[in-house]
Amino acid sequence: MQITRHLYLVGSEQFGLSHLLDCNCYLIDYGRGLALVDTGLGLGVDAILDNLRSHGLDPRRLSHILLTHTHLGHWGGAAGLREATGAEIWAPEAGRHWMEHVEEDRTIQQNLQFGRWPQELSPRSCSPDVTFADGRRLELGDGRATLVSVQGHTKDSTCILWELGGKRALFTGDVVFYAGLIGLINADGSSLEDYRRDLPKLADLRVDMLLPGHSVFVLRDGQKHINRALRKLQDFVLPESFFETNEFMWQNDYVRSLS
Ligand SMILES: [Zn+2]
Repeated sequence: MQITRHLYLVGSEQFGLSHLLDCNCYLIDYGRGLALVDTGLGLGVDAILDNLRSHGLDPRRLSHILLTHTHLGHWGGAAGLREATGAEIWAPEAGRHWMEHVEEDRTIQQNLQFGRWPQELSPRSCSPDVTFADGRRLELGDGRATLVSVQGHTKDSTCILWELGGKRALFTGDVVFYAGLIGLINADGSSLEDYRRDLPKLADLRVDMLLPGHSVFVLRDGQKHINRALRKLQDFVLPESFFETNEFMWQNDYVRSLS
């Protein structure tokens, strides 16, 4: 799906673009090459590559695979996509350990135990080519990406601010979603305290496009969704979590896909 002249959605569960367990996978065409933000679980790699070709984009132009965080649903396709394209995998430094030691990642066991992922799924460890820390910048043709660490969903969660032609897009991974829902979950590394400390880093970014790792994205006034999340984090009651409302839908989708 082409979103703007330079931006595509090439993998997604909710938009029906690739495997039912894939997150949103966004593709930036920066002229001299292509950059992919997140890869899905790994079962949709062929569909993602087909989606590039259907837009007339040669997968061999893919230079960067940028990961917002190292939950398997966002990086599991990285190794397969690197093999197919030669792109470099860029991951947050704090996530390197989880990519290289999948057997230690308890969130994988949680998803298998609760039937969200097929039992025959056998994720393989994978080493990123480049790891980055908070504030790292990356020139992509005429555009510029800034990697902003925002802990709360995980310890390695990163939002990618992409500026091009006066427009500002924020790829948020599982940090913040449409309507200001946040990605607080019951898993290692997720912390409301981290959210309260780090989400204010997004307060003054003047975001136009808000591009989350699941569900709906928006093309203008993205900042107001972030601002709603910031307000909710100041309240006395728990903020709404995207995963609370969507968890049941995901499980049903998967079960239906088997019949
Ligand atoms: Zn996640």
